[in-house]
Formats: sequence, structure tokens, C-alpha cells
Amino acid sequence: MRDHHEEARLDALYQLKLLDTPASEGFDRITRMASQIFGLPVAAVSLTDRDRQWFKSRVGVEHRSIPRDKAPCAQVAESTQPLVIEDFQADACYADSVLGRAGTRFYAGAPLVTSDGYGLGSLCVLGTEPRKATEAELAALVDLAAMVMAQIELQHAFGRIDPVTGMPTRNQFRDDLMDLERDHPGEHRFAVVVDMAREDQISRITRALGVARVDDFIREASQALRVALGPGRVAYQVGSAQFAFISPPGVEELAYVSLLRSSFETMHATSSVRFVTNVAIGVRSFVIGSVSADDVLRGAASAAQDARNADGAIALHSPANDIAHRRQYGLLQDFGAALEAGDQLRLVYQPRIELATGRCLGAEALLRWRHPRLGEVSPAEFIPIIEETSLARATTQWVIDAAMDQMAAWNLAGIAPVLSVNISAANLGEADLIDRIQLALSKRDLRPERLEIELTESAIMDQPDQALAMLRELAEAGICLAIDDFGTGHSSLAYLQRLPARIVKIDQAFMRNLTEAAGPDFVLVETMIGLAHKLGYRVVAEGIETAEAAAILTQLGCEEAQGFWFARPMEATLFATWLVEREPEAEPERG
Ligand code: C2E
Ligand code: MG
Ligand code: MG
Repeated sequence: MRDHHEEARLDALYQLKLLDTPASEGFDRITRMASQIFGLPVAAVSLTDRDRQWFKSRVGVEHRSIPRDKAPCAQVAESTQPLVIEDFQADACYADSVLGRAGTRFYAGAPLVTSDGYGLGSLCVLGTEPRKATEAELAALVDLAAMVMAQIELQHAFGRIDPVTGMPTRNQFRDDLMDLERDHPGEHRFAVVVDMAREDQISRITRALGVARVDDFIREASQALRVALGPGRVAYQVGSAQFAFISPPGVEELAYVSLLRSSFETMHATSSVRFVTNVAIGVRSFVIGSVSADDVLRGAASAAQDARNADGAIALHSPANDIAHRRQYGLLQDFGAALEAGDQLRLVYQPRIELATGRCLGAEALLRWRHPRLGEVSPAEFIPIIEETSLARATTQWVIDAAMDQMAAWNLAGIAPVLSVNISAANLGEADLIDRIQLALSKRDLRPERLEIELTESAIMDQPDQALAMLRELAEAGICLAIDDFGTGHSSLAYLQRLPARIVKIDQAFMRNLTEAAGPDFVLVETMIGLAHKLGYRVVAEGIETAEAAAILTQLGCEEAQGFWFARPMEATLFATWLVEREPEAEPERG
């Protein structure tokens, strides 16, 4: 019966994964207080293992453990009662204990008891002179022991151990790194992040085999990693399928990377899911104490992302990539504020010219962002970042509202270009997009024919079915659709034929070298125009920078063109002046 209880007690202790972990300030603080309250030089948080008392925290003791046999702390743990030994020499049992023989005369201990009632050990103070413990001292010791327990149980409960793998989590990584900072500042180490699978692979396994199988996979991977690391090394679970660990001291970069590579190969060969996942490994070198735990992890994880191209690839953290990623993240954070600020975002307008007549039929609204600190940031930089997030919705709404406001203002001034507005792939998932566009139009008394929506070919091909449904609705609402950046998105002829678009805008990449007739780009552009015409589209060429390109496109029968040769994107007022001034002329000024 007793043995059974002892096994359960040990189990409770082992579950907490406290034994043989590094010292930590959270516990040391309490130990110091105990020593101060009693005015004694020695105090410890002592955990009762099967055969030893192991000190999680200690003041004034050199060794990390003593034998359990005849240790007063073991009695405290077993009885879960406080214990005071006023004089070891007068105590039949403890006079001949390890502590007694080493000169300890006084002992007071308060039990560390779990909420389930298991005694894990004792918070104790020791002295070399016999003495008594006052009631107040003892009460303080009992309180401090309760604080130690609160700390232990909080640590355990507060997301420090992953429920699936039993691995310490990111929080624990943070704390352990802080303890390393205290114990080994200035040491050079490597942080390694092992990314077991791409997110889409995880969702595929979840979908096909269920969450439980994903848990099995993660558990299996974590075990393989632990085996590869060997005893005494800690691996952390820092993401759903991401593990991290820190190198031992004194390893050299090249040797370490090749060691990682061979360990990975062994791990890989034994994994049952190796065929459906890709492992990527990121390594970040750092000096303990000079980088925050979050930066260490982020750097290694971003290197793992860089390694993502090939299975089993290992990438070293690159500061340049890191700066780029940090800038992206910063932009993303600041863009939310920009949407609300009122003075950071604006639209500029680039005319679209009918090649046969030189008339300007419409303009494309292009978003501009003047960042308060960074100045002008190009949409080519921030749009792809925004598109990945839920900000895509608010951004498109902002653009639609601003464009419609401008259109209404121009109406009053007697100019009426058709306005093109770019939307993102993410917007296709918004069930109310069409309603919102229609509302924006009707609020300002604008006819739908005045608006054109541009969507890139690659955005359409990202989710062809969803796009088709949404674009059909748009067409039914009388809004014209243009396929932007055409020629870069791999759409099939069969699909193109079903798209209810009226316009294709051939990507500017094809116009760069459109100089001599019969060159490779000439053939491509000629073919694309011919194809688009056969499918019934009106063709716009983007990025026309030279008279020669404009002439070639006119000759090929391209209907419209847009580019610096005709006009750069302009502020709203400039665009209006430009339009009024050029209207009487039939030919482009410089064309
Ligand atoms: P896009 O829709 O293909 O827009 C045409 C881009 O080409 C614009 O760049 C324009 O300034 C540039 N461009 C026009 N003519 C020439 C030329 O002759 N030579 C060269 N080198 N470039 C020319 P911008 O304004 O920097 O926008 C880049 C991209 O950002 C746009 O490509 C579009 O995909 C996206 N974007 C811009 N505004 C918005 C917006 O309001 N919403 C969304 N979702 N995307 C936007
Ligand atoms: Mg566009
Ligand atoms: Mg384009």
C-alpha cells in the first residue's frame, strides 16, 4: 500500500519534469527569502527523488543532491508535515545522517505538496548551531513552500508543456534561455528550429486521416528528435509542427551543420510520414545574452522558412533576409494604422490610351502609401504582404470608396473617365464583395459601367472555381472585369474561354524588349493579342515606355495601352488637368 503511494508520488514528481533542470531565478528568489527570514546561511528547495534529495534551488550549498536515506526533507515529503530539528546531536535518528555528520545542527522544513496531496519535497533552512524555530518563522516557511508549489504548478499548467508531445514549449524556451543568460553569458551557441512539415501538408493529413493522426505524427517526430539529441539535451515544441533546441557549447558552425544533416537523415529514414511531409531546418548563431529569446527563435524559424525549397534542407539565418522580413512585418503592423490615419493613403491615376485614336478612355487607380517614417512605400512591396492577411478586405474597401469619391467629384467637374480598381485574390472569398461595390456605386449615384475591376491572372488561377463564381456575379452586376498581368498566371485556354471578362491587360514584362519586329517578345505579344481577340477580349498593353513599342502594338491591333510613354500615374488634380488639356488633341503628345 505504502509502495503504491510512493510510486504515485514519484510519478507526480516526474510528470512535472523538474528534476535535473537548470536553476531558475523564480525559485532562487524564494529560497533566498527563506534563508533571510531565519537568518541562516543555508536554504534549499529540495525534491525527493527515488534515492536522492535533488535541489532545484539552493543557497549556501555546493552540491546539487544528497542521498535520500536519513534526509529530513524526505521525512517532510513523506509526511507532508513541517519538521523542525532543533539539534541534530540530540536526535537519535538524524545525529548519524549525512547532514548531521557534516556539521548541521538545526533544520526546519515545510512540505511541498501538490494539489493532489503528493509531497514532492521540502523548502528547508539549515544552521550549524542548535536553535528553535518561532511560530512566525515556521508560518513564513510554510507560506514560502506554498509559493514554491504555486510556481511549480503554474509553470506546469501555463503552457509550458505541450499536451501532445510532453515537450517543453516556447514559454519554457524563453525561461530556459534567460537562465542560460544568467549562468553562461557571452557563450556562443546555435539555435536550431526543425520545421517538420509545411502547413498545407499538415492540413492535408488532418483532412485525410484526422487530427489524431497529426498528433501521432508530431509525437513520433518529437520522439525521433529526442532520440537524435540524446539524453540531457532539451528539445522544445515551438509551433504546431516546429521543434527547437540549442546547441551544446563549443561547436563549430560547419561541423555542427553537417552533424545536423546526418542526424536528420537518420530521423527521416525512420519516420512513417516521410513521404507526405518536408522537413526544413533553420540555424541561427547567437551569443547568449545579446539577443532576446524571441529573436533567437524567430531568426532560426525564418531560416527554416528559407530552407523550405528542398526537403531536409538546412539554412543558416541570414541577417539580410531577416531585415527584409522584419521590414515586411513592420509594414504589416503599420498598415492597419495607415487605413485609419486619413493622411497616409491616397490614389493616383494612370491614363489608359486608345491606340487607334489616342483618346484617353479611362484610368487605373493605383494605391500609394506615405509611411510617416519610411516615406513612400511601393504597392509592389506592401500589397503582397497585406493580401496574405485579413487587412485585404479593409484595403480594398478603402480603395473602392476613395476611387468612387473621386469619380463623383470628377462627375461634378464634367469629366467622366472609366476607373479601374485592383482587387486581391483574398477579396474573392468575401461573400458580400459585390454588394459592397454596388452600395459604393449607388451611394454616389454612379453607374456600374463606370467601374472596372482588375484581378491578376495568377489570383484568378489560385482559386479558379471561386473566382469564376464571383466574376460571373460581377458581370451580372454590369461591372466590367479585366484580367491583369496577363501572360504570367498560367491559365488554360479552356478556362479563359469561360471567364466573363471583357479585357485582358498583357503584363508589362512582355513589353520590355518589344523593339524590333519579329523578335521573340514580338512573337509572344502578337500571339497573345491574336488569342485574346479570338476569345473576344479587348486588349490593353501595360508598361509601354517607348514610341516604338506603342507603334508596334498599334500595328498588332492592340486596342489600348498604358505606360510611362503616355503618362505616369498622377495625383487626382494633375490627372484632371492633364485630361482636360489633352482632350482636343487626337494623337498622344509624344507618340
Ligand atoms: P498593376 O495593377 O499591374 O499596375 C501597373 C503597375 O505598373 C503600376 O505600378 C504602375 O505604376 C506601373 N507602370 C505603369 N506604366 C509603367 C511603365 O511604363 N513602366 C513601368 N516600369 N511601370 C509602369 P504600381 O502603382 O507600383 O503598382 C504595382 C502593383 O501593385 C499593381 O500592378 C497592382 O498589382 C498592385 N496595386 C496597386 N494599387 C493597388 C490597389 O489599390 N489594390 C490592389 N489590390 N493592388 C494594387
Ligand atoms: Mg492593375
Ligand atoms: Mg498589371
